[in-house]
Amino acid sequence: MHLYRQLVAWVVTAAIFSWASVGMAMPSTGENTLTVTNSHSWKPFAFVENGEPKGLLVDYWRLYGEVNNVPVEFILSDWSDSLDLVAEGGRKVHAGLLYSSSRDLYLEYTLPLFEISASLYIVNDSEQLKTQSILPGMKIGVVRGGYEEEHLGSRYPLVELVAFDNNAKLIDAALNGQVNRMLLDTQVATYYLSQRADPYQFIPVDILYTKMIYAAVPEGNEALRDEIMAGMKKIPVLDMTRIEQKWLNTSRVFTVPGWIWPLGIVLVVLVTLSYIVLLRQTVQRKTRDLKALNKKLEAYAFTDSLTGLLNRRGLEKEFESRKVTALIKRHQLAVLVIDVDHFKKINDSFGHSKGDEVLMSLGKAFEQALEEGIALSRLGGEEFCLLLDVKSREQLDAVTEYICYYLVPSASQSDLGLQVSASIGAVLVDTNQGQLSLDSLIHQADKLMYLAKAAGRNTVRAKSLSSELKPSQLLGVMN
Ligand code: GH3
Ligand code: MG
Ligand code: MG
Repeated sequence: MHLYRQLVAWVVTAAIFSWASVGMAMPSTGENTLTVTNSHSWKPFAFVENGEPKGLLVDYWRLYGEVNNVPVEFILSDWSDSLDLVAEGGRKVHAGLLYSSSRDLYLEYTLPLFEISASLYIVNDSEQLKTQSILPGMKIGVVRGGYEEEHLGSRYPLVELVAFDNNAKLIDAALNGQVNRMLLDTQVATYYLSQRADPYQFIPVDILYTKMIYAAVPEGNEALRDEIMAGMKKIPVLDMTRIEQKWLNTSRVFTVPGWIWPLGIVLVVLVTLSYIVLLRQTVQRKTRDLKALNKKLEAYAFTDSLTGLLNRRGLEKEFESRKVTALIKRHQLAVLVIDVDHFKKINDSFGHSKGDEVLMSLGKAFEQALEEGIALSRLGGEEFCLLLDVKSREQLDAVTEYICYYLVPSASQSDLGLQVSASIGAVLVDTNQGQLSLDSLIHQADKLMYLAKAAGRNTVRAKSLSSELKPSQLLGVMN
């Protein structure tokens, strides 16, 4: 067996050298050169990439060369060829492999290097995963000449081994469906599978063994064995750890499933749309709230806070629409100024808050008793102003008398001896007389109100301006 290997080794060496010289740049060999061999497809331990030897063991032996000042050349080949090459003899070292008694026949083992484990991988298929043990007749993929082949062959003789030249071919074949199960080094499988589109196409279900890998030289070359062992001892532990971390902490290649992008885009569009809808609703709600607030503020701006009637500004606004209404109805517009008599005395005798109460009662009385369509305002102090449209002077007289002799006295509190009366000045004007000014009309009504005061108070003085005034006079102040 040993002789047969030696023979094969010579033939294979010739073949490997011809391949290697094509596959990678060969350093010039000297007498002292150490030829390091291993697999060309045993990632991350040893492999060839772009014609360059790479991997954990390659880094290790390069370091060995540097530390020991020994030129090192690499010949990486199919696994069984790498064994044959060392078996052939010479200054050769197998970069790292597991111990087996059959290999011990043609190899001298040196020191252990790194720990390695082998796992049974099963295709990620629920039917296949049901059976996770190794049963007779099962087809299991292995690397030809690899320790896994030997391990399975000796322990499970009834298993049908399907051998491939190297790890890359084994994994390719498995991923292409040629085998459903494979036994291979866990670190190697992890490395290869992690670089595939679907790293979980095969799943490790059982670690069959964990062992150290050793460097080995040709059988009988004890001098080389001792040289290698002495050289290995010189390599700093920290450097060993660094190399191990560099190659065994492989980063997984995460591949994004094809459906994730359309789903992501749909989600982004949905979120954006929802955001826009929400934003719209919020803006609409805020606009509504703002409008309501503006209305309220407007109402405050045009309202007298004590009585709730219009204030002077509110009346000004109302005047414009009243004019139009009166014009359409062909009615006349009346402006009444109502001033409470001796109000100061009410305050003085009954207190300021009683005075306020009287003002509020008057406001309420006007609101309740007077027809809708009459604009009611408090100009300030104890002075009110009313705008109303009337058909005739007679109707105006009826209204003013009703206010003066009925409504205003209704705010009296006879139990307290509090009598309320007012003097009223009223003007009546045709709305078709051109541009009317509220200021001017109030001023004229005011004057008439003072005439009523002068006449002894608690009375009305009214005047129809249309019959006696020219339109231009209505814009100015009447003397
Ligand atoms: P006249 O009959 O001549 O109108 O006499 P009067 O006392 O009613 O008129 P005067 O202008 O002398 O006094 C008005 C008083 O009204 C003076 C002021 O203190 C009082 N007054 C003004 N605004 C308010 C108010 O909001 N509440 C109260 N309680 N009194 C007010
Ligand atoms: Mg007054
Ligand atoms: Mg007064």
